[in-house]
Amino acid sequence: MLCRRKFLSLGFGAVLASKATPAWSVSSLSVGDMKIDVVSDGHLNLPANFTFSGLPEDKVKELIQKYSLPTNGIQPDCNLTLVRQQGRAILFDVGAGPNFMESAGKVIDALDAIDVDPSDITDVVFTHAHPDHLWGVLDDFDDPMFPEARHHIAAAELDYWRDPNTVKSIGEARQAFAAGAARNLGAIDELISVFKPGQEILPGIFARLTPGHTPGHTSFEIRSGNQSLMVVGDAIVNHHLAFEYPAWEANSDQDKSLGANTRLQLLGDLAANKTKIIGFHFPYPGVGYVERNGTAYRWVAA
Ligand SMILES: [Zn+2]
Repeated sequence: MLCRRKFLSLGFGAVLASKATPAWSVSSLSVGDMKIDVVSDGHLNLPANFTFSGLPEDKVKELIQKYSLPTNGIQPDCNLTLVRQQGRAILFDVGAGPNFMESAGKVIDALDAIDVDPSDITDVVFTHAHPDHLWGVLDDFDDPMFPEARHHIAAAELDYWRDPNTVKSIGEARQAFAAGAARNLGAIDELISVFKPGQEILPGIFARLTPGHTPGHTSFEIRSGNQSLMVVGDAIVNHHLAFEYPAWEANSDQDKSLGANTRLQLLGDLAANKTKIIGFHFPYPGVGYVERNGTAYRWVAA
């Protein structure tokens, strides 16, 4: 966590209160007989010009004003989903761990706040293998943080990051991501189970391939009784730009045009079906609905 003085000197004073006192976990959600908590891993600090790259300046100003975003950087929250049902504790993504950003890697504290020990986790399910979703998989001694858990990942995602050519072909900006993914996935090799798109990977948990952000990025529909909820991961990466300009090609997507197509399709489906979702980087806890707003969409927190 940034110290208060440094935080203020960076001009983030306006959001200090919400970031300094994170609510680590909420457990007010349920889907049928599944109990759902959103556990916070903290937040990221990203330069604004990365997020808004290529968007005309007047539109950036409009977004910053409308959503009260800090002008010199954005701080997306990191919302992990914990599903508990009949002896299973399923964690969707594991956060950033200690080696990515000081402001992230807090999920073990969040789990502790609701009396969940890492060894209680029976299954880890990955949306994708970026650092803020994967690097928390090892502890300080490089041993598995969740030793009792099967770690489920899409075959396409695992194959991509395991391929020794990826680190050479991915481009300089993402080389550290590739090296980190290969290292972390290699270290949990014996705990990994792969799945295919469309598969029911665990009882009531259905995988939907949502590629573009990464080649095998996956979102998950959670169904029980007549209720459902979708863990979207980074297929929709923020609550402002992705909703106001859904076709905009986002810098954070590895394949920008595929990412935009996936997002358009997903937003359309979510709005039409009034599906409740959890957005990984939306304002904590990131629970809500997608609504149509003319040719674009709006985020409705719930
Ligand atoms: Zn992310």
